[in-house]
Amino acid sequence: MGNLKNFKICVIKGDGIGVEVIDETVRMLKAYEKILKSIHFEFIEAKAGLTELMTNGNAIPNETIEIAKECDAILFGAITSPKPTEISEELNKSYKSPILTLRKELDLYANVRPTIDYKSNIDFVIIRENTEGLYIKDEYYDEENEFAIAKRKISKKGSERIIKFAFEYAKSNNRKKVSCIHKSNVLRITDGLFLKTFEEIAQDKKYNGIEANDYLVDATAMYIIKSPEIFDVMATTNLFGDILSDEASALGGGLGLAPSANIGDKYALFEPVHGSAPDIAGKGIANPMATMLCCAMMLDYLKIDSEPIKNAVKRAFLEGNTTADLSGCLTTKEVADKIIDYLN
Ligand code: ATP
Ligand code: MG
Repeated sequence: MGNLKNFKICVIKGDGIGVEVIDETVRMLKAYEKILKSIHFEFIEAKAGLTELMTNGNAIPNETIEIAKECDAILFGAITSPKPTEISEELNKSYKSPILTLRKELDLYANVRPTIDYKSNIDFVIIRENTEGLYIKDEYYDEENEFAIAKRKISKKGSERIIKFAFEYAKSNNRKKVSCIHKSNVLRITDGLFLKTFEEIAQDKKYNGIEANDYLVDATAMYIIKSPEIFDVMATTNLFGDILSDEASALGGGLGLAPSANIGDKYALFEPVHGSAPDIAGKGIANPMATMLCCAMMLDYLKIDSEPIKNAVKRAFLEGNTTADLSGCLTTKEVADKIIDYLN
């Protein structure tokens, strides 16, 4: 037992199907732990979401943030956002989105979204800057002249850290190419800075052997549909990344197969792209694969072999052992049983 490596995993199930897919993913990870032998996962549950808001008046208690900060990684299910008309004015005023709060508090500046489609072998990753760009929400309206301006912040430091992240990600995930996605032909100062920073970092000897190139964002939107195989890792700014990753998710196997990660220098949170899906919650038919692929990303981050999990999910998919969203007829639990079975 002396060599057992301990990892603390903060588990935030959230609401709706978040609870169901996380429960099955944790069950799978416990089975995988037994196979690995040398690793112990300590699961620490923390609360967040609508249920928490309705019972304790706070969708994201401070305690949850504290627990998250004490752990090696965070596994996050999904949250139902309250409809403004369904909660009191007081709760409306104090409401803070759990996921946005966690991204901010933990400085999770890199949003990582792989696009996976087992049928066509599409396999690329969009790395989106998560803290600046157009989403600094610095807008104003000039009443007299009737125009509105939104500021877009691109900093040297912010660009450096996301671009370095993209190259490090490529290196540690055995990927061959990093593409900078920008619009520097028009936005010469802001995107000019982003591209120049990219070109500087690409020169670093550390990244010898990783190809670096760049594309305009509009051309990228077309190539994602027309020739997705040209992409491997993409590094881009906040708004472009937001739009392109939604576009890319339509290419992949759908919401049931789409994982994501939010990563910073100290903390990392892994969540499926899908939401809490109240329409199917409690029926036992939610697809757990996206969350299991999140779990595989979490293991990559913790430098633990994730291949058996990725292979097991792929095998279940290809054999048609899936939930209804992927045209199968299994329940959440039955899909998890298959995947656990395939781990061995
Ligand atoms: P939220 O408000 O929390 O985002 P939502 O109703 O928008 O919830 P999403 O999860 O964003 O739900 O997805 C939209 C629809 O896709 C859901 O209503 C559901 O029918 C389907 N869906 C999403 N995720 C899954 C899943 N893991 N398994 C099966 N179906 C899913
Ligand atoms: Mg939604």
